[in-house]
Amino acid sequence: MLIVQKFGGSSVANAERVRHVAGIIADTYAEGHDVVVVLSAQGDTTDELIEKAKEINPKPSKREMDVLLSTGEQQSVALMSMALEAIGLPVVSLTGWQIGMETNATYGAARIIRVSTERLRRELDKRRIVIVAGFQGVDRNEDITTLGRGGSDTTAVAIAAVLHADKCQIYTDVEGVYTADPRKVPNARKLDEITYDEMLELASLGAQVLMNRSVELAKRYGVVIEVLSSYVRKSGTKVKEVAKKMEEMKISGIAKDNDVARLVVVGVPDEPGMAFRVFNAMARAKINVDIILQSYGKAGTNDISFTVPITDAEAAAAALNDIQEAIGFDHVNVDTNVCKVSIVGAGMMSASGIAALMFEALYDAKINIQMISTSEIKVSVLIDKAYADQAVQAIHNRFFG
Ligand code: ASP
Ligand code: MG
Repeated sequence: MLIVQKFGGSSVANAERVRHVAGIIADTYAEGHDVVVVLSAQGDTTDELIEKAKEINPKPSKREMDVLLSTGEQQSVALMSMALEAIGLPVVSLTGWQIGMETNATYGAARIIRVSTERLRRELDKRRIVIVAGFQGVDRNEDITTLGRGGSDTTAVAIAAVLHADKCQIYTDVEGVYTADPRKVPNARKLDEITYDEMLELASLGAQVLMNRSVELAKRYGVVIEVLSSYVRKSGTKVKEVAKKMEEMKISGIAKDNDVARLVVVGVPDEPGMAFRVFNAMARAKINVDIILQSYGKAGTNDISFTVPITDAEAAAAALNDIQEAIGFDHVNVDTNVCKVSIVGAGMMSASGIAALMFEALYDAKINIQMISTSEIKVSVLIDKAYADQAVQAIHNRFFG
C-alpha cells in the first residue's frame, strides 16, 4: 500500500516527539508499505517566526513572510529524516518546490494548482521513505508560497490525491473527531466515521481538527482521511463521503463558535430594497454574514439582525453607519457577547424532532435562544456567550445521554 502520513506541529515539537513519530513511520515502512510523510513546523515555530518578523518590520511583504515561514517546515523534515537515518532507514526530505507543489501567487494563502508526481515516484521506487515539508509551495515565477495557517493538512491530502494513496492519515494530538470538544465535555465520544460535509460544518463551527480546505480537497478527489493520535496507537476517525452511523446516533456532533458578533439594525423602514442595501454594504466590505433574522420593529419599521465573524464586527458597524442616512434607520447595536452553538448530522432532515430535542435541552437548562438557523445538515442557535459550555453539555447529554 501507499500511505501518506501527516504529523502536526505538536507531534514533532521536540527531539523526543520526533523520535517517537519516527518510530510510527518506521513501523509503517517495516510492514512493507510505501510511505510519504508530510510534516508541519515544530511546536509553535510558525508563531515564533511571525513574532520575529514583526520585531524587524511590522508590515513585512507577504512574499518575504512566506520565505520566512516556510523555513519552519524545512527544519522539521530535515530533523525527521535524521531521526530515520539514525535507525538505519532509507529516507529523503523534500521541500514543496522539490516535489513540484505548484500554487498560485497569493502569498500567505496560496491555492494549489498542481502537484508533480515525478520526484515523489522516483524516490518511492528507490524504496525510500519520503518526508515532505507541508504548508509550502512555489508559484509560476519560482517564488516560495505558503498555503495559509494549518496548511500542512492540505499538502497531505493533495499528495494523497495525486499519488492515489491507499490511505491518508492525519496524526494529531487528539484521538479523532468527537461528538463535542472532549476537553469541555467529558463524556464526548469518538466517532468512527464522519462525512466530509459534516466535518466541514464542524470545522467551520469551531471544532478545529482539520483545516477546512483539506476536507474540501479530500471531498473533491474522494480521499478518505483518517484522523488519529500520534500519542496512542488506536484507530481514529475516518472522514469520507458516506459514513456509517452508530445505531442510536441522531446527530454526529455539537460545536460552538465563540468568534461571532450579532448586529441589529434597528428601525429599518418597511419598504422594498432595504435588506438588499444592508447586505450589499456587507458584501462590499467583504464581510461574511451568517444567521439573518428580520422582525417587526417600531411602527412601519423592521429590525434586521445578523451575525458576522467577531473580527469583522467593527467594520460591519462602520459600513452600516455609512449608509444610515441613505436608508434612514434608527441605529445599530453590536453585541459581541454571543456564541453560536450547532448540532450537525447528515440525514438530520429526514428524521423528525431533532431541532425540538436541541431546543428542549436548552429550555431545561434555562438558556435563552436569540436566533435560530437551519440547513440540511445543521441547526444553529445564537445564545449568550456566558452559557456556551453549559449549552453544549446540555445538548450533548440530550443526544448522547
Ligand atoms: N506550520 C503551519 C502553521 O502553523 C502549517 C501547519 O501547521 O499546518 O500554521
Ligand atoms: Mg500547525
